[in-house]
Amino acid sequence: MSATLPFFRYHPDPVTSGSIRESTETCARCERATGWIYAATFCTAQDVDAHFCPWCIADGSAAERFEGEFTGSYRLDGVSAEILEQVTRRTPGFHAWQDPHWLVHCNDAAAFIGEVGYTELAAHPDALDQLRTDLRIDGWHDAAQLENFLAHLGHGASAVLFRCTSCDTHLAYADAS
Ligand SMILES: [Zn+2]
Ligand SMILES: [Zn+2]
Repeated sequence: MSATLPFFRYHPDPVTSGSIRESTETCARCERATGWIYAATFCTAQDVDAHFCPWCIADGSAAERFEGEFTGSYRLDGVSAEILEQVTRRTPGFHAWQDPHWLVHCNDAAAFIGEVGYTELAAHPDALDQLRTDLRIDGWHDAAQLENFLAHLGHGASAVLFRCTSCDTHLAYADAS
């Protein structure tokens, strides 16, 4: 392993989440082979293969050069323009079935942990309770059906898990195919 990866406040472990992987490929921005390459979403009108090194993501140069965003600003309500810019343009995104987005807690974007199944979600009862409440609000009125859906997370549908960077509360939303 070469240099330590840059730290991403809103995506602290992009190697475990699968968004950055070890690779001999060269970065589309700096054209260096750093040993690491980005392997998730990048939205741009330009014709570019979004294989960036983590450093060109962290300093914003990849997003600037190719006029793109790693994640849309959808649902990033109530955060400062600075945080919005950091999440969408200087943080590795992630793969999801539906449009990936960030959750907000304590007026800050939360840190993305990963897509998880029921067992990993249940290890964070705060996130499980919050997801159950959100799904009820979204129209899951049949409690048995809802519990069945939650219990099968990880098979087809999964939970996108976050942790608040201020208070450490875990939170999640459901991602379905
Ligand atoms: Zn680079
Ligand atoms: Zn919080």
